[in-house]
Amino acid sequence: MADLKQVTPAPDTPLIDKTTGDTPIGTAPKTVVVATHNRHKLAEIRAILNIEGWEFVSPDELGVTEQPIEDADTFAGNALIKARFAHKKTGKAALADDSGLVVDALGGAPGVCSSRFAGEPTNDPANNAKLLSELVRVPATERTAHFVCSVAFVDEDSTERLAEGRFDGRIAFEPHGKGGFGYDPLFLPDAFGGQRTLAQIAAEEKNVISHRARALAHLKSQLVSPTTCSIAAPSSATDTSETTSTSHTPGIPNTAGDTMKKTEIVAFDFDGTLIDVSSPVRLIARLNRDHIMPKKAIAKSALWGARYKLGKELNQAKPRRYIFSSFKNFSASDANAIMKNLYLEELRPRLLPPGLQCVEEHRRAGRTLVVVSASFEPIIAELAKDLGAQAYICTRMEVVDGSYTGETIGEPPEGEQKLLQFEQWANATYGSGNWVLTHAYGDHFSDVPLMASALHPVAVDPDRRLEALAREKSWEVASWSDG
Ligand code: IMP
Repeated sequence: MADLKQVTPAPDTPLIDKTTGDTPIGTAPKTVVVATHNRHKLAEIRAILNIEGWEFVSPDELGVTEQPIEDADTFAGNALIKARFAHKKTGKAALADDSGLVVDALGGAPGVCSSRFAGEPTNDPANNAKLLSELVRVPATERTAHFVCSVAFVDEDSTERLAEGRFDGRIAFEPHGKGGFGYDPLFLPDAFGGQRTLAQIAAEEKNVISHRARALAHLKSQLVSPTTCSIAAPSSATDTSETTSTSHTPGIPNTAGDTMKKTEIVAFDFDGTLIDVSSPVRLIARLNRDHIMPKKAIAKSALWGARYKLGKELNQAKPRRYIFSSFKNFSASDANAIMKNLYLEELRPRLLPPGLQCVEEHRRAGRTLVVVSASFEPIIAELAKDLGAQAYICTRMEVVDGSYTGETIGEPPEGEQKLLQFEQWANATYGSGNWVLTHAYGDHFSDVPLMASALHPVAVDPDRRLEALAREKSWEVASWSDG
């Protein structure tokens, strides 16, 4: 993968040209030591970062064979130990990664102990067997897990940068597939419909969206300088973004003078903001057109909508249950295909050009893009790929035995939940205090909690209540739907 653009799978044409702007900070050629003795990792890192004039070499090539003790209790901490060590030994810029599996039902284990879960030396089949035995009584709905990869970069002048990527999925009940390594035979990634393990998915497919690819793409966006950015960082963001940090990696003392840049995050709502329609309403229309949604469910959702507008109905799970009752006789992957096609055929063409321009300007300014939407995962996952967003927060629906049950997993991200779930994600990804929400774009009063926590909230084609509030608080008001 040469660029973030390729996160959008062929044959879809990327909406945003992300091929320009990869100007490395500083123009001189640079040698970067990649602190790994694994040739495959080095090749993958070379291919993903692919910064003009930069050469990536292994420590062996510079005569360094020693390795530091990785005894931090976070992935970021271990990545930093390795990158700092390589930098100290060679005097060159250094890069290192650390990764592992985090299983919710096991309180985050195996985590940083992933490679030695069943003891040393690393034994993948033994690790997998131990994982299965620890989850023996855990039902499908509670087997959520994710891979994490942290990458650390220490520049020649000792400036440090950290980036993290996450890959969501579930743990299967038995191993499937022969490809990959580590926990791949047990990991059912959500991004592929949750039906196949990573060991059943081609490496090329995995490598464009894996935790490592995401972390490296995110690091790259920090390492390349913005070219034509018309969106200046708000002054308070500039004030806080460059800070001396001692708390970003518990257990890893930061030597005096090390600087850690706070990750600047921009949040975008989808329905009514990046498009001028509502994706759930469009989904209902399509299910109706294709005679998939029961008439009774259509009537119930219309009634729910009317009551919601009057402020008499607050139960967000209900309309989702009505919509997903359509998928009773479908496998989850067929239902996902219906939602993905809705996005590709009806929603994607309606993405508003000023919104896309804004996304692109933030991307070029090196900010992390996150979609925060109450719409459904198969739709939002496609959107996030198109935008080159590093993450998305959306409504996830429960799948049991390969079919949707109609129940949501946790609460849909609406109102306060948007803010809560966003903060949880940002703290888990970057560590509390290491990120700043610079901009938040929303169109509806329910976006207010998240918008109010941004340094620069922007009300896009706002509803009456949001517009009044935006005027009162002097928030920027934009109109994207007028072109
Ligand atoms: P490392 O960061 O490459 O040392 O990986 C640590 C451990 O995490 C590996 O030994 C695997 O057990 C697990 N792991 C990390 N990434 C993956 C992956 O993509 N697939 C499967 N297992 C992984």
